[in-house]
Amino acid sequence: MIAQDQLIAAISARRNDLIALTQDLIRIPTLNPPGADYRQICEYLDRRLLHAGFETELIRAIGAPGDSDQYPRWNIVARREGTRPGDCVHFNSHIDVVEIGHGWTTDPFGGEVKDGKIYGRGACDMKGGLAASIIAAEAFIETCPDYAGAIEISGTADEESGGFGGVAYLAERGYFDPARVQHVIIPEPLNKDRICLGHRGVWWAELETKGEIAHGSMPFLGDCAVRHMGAVVAEMEHRLFPALAARRTDMPVVPDGARQSTLNINSIHGGEPEQDAAYTGLPSPCVPDRCRMVIDRRFLIEEDIDDVEAEFRAVLKRVGDARENFDYDLRELHRVLPSMTERDAPIVTTVARAIEATLGHAPDYVVSPGTYDQKHIDRIGRLKNCIAYGPGILDLAHKPDEYVGIDDMMQSAQVMALSLAELLLRAEP
Ligand SMILES: [Zn+2]
Repeated sequence: MIAQDQLIAAISARRNDLIALTQDLIRIPTLNPPGADYRQICEYLDRRLLHAGFETELIRAIGAPGDSDQYPRWNIVARREGTRPGDCVHFNSHIDVVEIGHGWTTDPFGGEVKDGKIYGRGACDMKGGLAASIIAAEAFIETCPDYAGAIEISGTADEESGGFGGVAYLAERGYFDPARVQHVIIPEPLNKDRICLGHRGVWWAELETKGEIAHGSMPFLGDCAVRHMGAVVAEMEHRLFPALAARRTDMPVVPDGARQSTLNINSIHGGEPEQDAAYTGLPSPCVPDRCRMVIDRRFLIEEDIDDVEAEFRAVLKRVGDARENFDYDLRELHRVLPSMTERDAPIVTTVARAIEATLGHAPDYVVSPGTYDQKHIDRIGRLKNCIAYGPGILDLAHKPDEYVGIDDMMQSAQVMALSLAELLLRAEP
């Protein structure tokens, strides 16, 4: 087997290339929503990976949520075959970034380098990880051209909005079939010395309470949907939130606060819609006849999704028992089951050894509080041998002045290259 030193040297020689590649990716403003410039970033990746000897496919997720002629959902899948049969190792990165938000002191799409960090929206989540995986693959191919199996790199759309125009679309079309791909690394920003085994589950629902409109000066002639919703929230405070907080998981979720069941009230809207800032008039006096709340419930591998829903319906039952005219609709918006790869899965043990060789200590094993594209690879692709591993600090994701550390990217790229060596060179005669 090739000396690890040669691979590490090949990565080290690519430091400037890694910086430039990351900057180029940041400078393509692939905001989602709406899903901008996917074609542009896929074409950029296409040129890069063709040059490295990959065969590439650009795939538009026609008909997926969000896909339109104005904002087409483009994805790229690149594959480079080895010289003999063996496993396929796939690096999957999402190409989209979330909105900029306020509070930036650097240009969000400038890719500025300062104090060993590259700044920009998506620097850590996850263009830095994508760049690290490309550098790892290129260094590996150059150093060890006679490898077994295949290397795949994909850049996929819409992870931030559920992944339906990205990994889910590809998984439905067999791109993550275990017959085609055997190992998946998703370089999300989980830190260079942590292996993320999976994520908690999600249940999103919209509750609408119903009332009756009337003149605001005579609310007794109507029925206030907002007061009904207030009663629901009060009941949640009284019984549901404490019950969730008391439920702990054996999943190694980080941060520690997420090792319990959680529920976020995502939004509440009741009564007449808010006017835009240009409107200078007063509201009209009406009793709200509709109030809507979106809840975002995150659940544990020990919990059953049907129990999660039943628990919330029990809240509504108790409110209904105590109030007159309590009427509502409850609509599920989204569900994702928890996913957790076994600790002795080949991709886990391989990356763990590579982390140890690179950083000199064993990795931490973590589970993500939120979901990412592993859900589709697991549930649709039926591929269990999947982890998230990549550079960057998760807490910086989606924040102003997001950055990725250059040394962190370099070390992650080393870990990825050593993992390729272990998985694709061991069958060497
Ligand atoms: Zn991400």
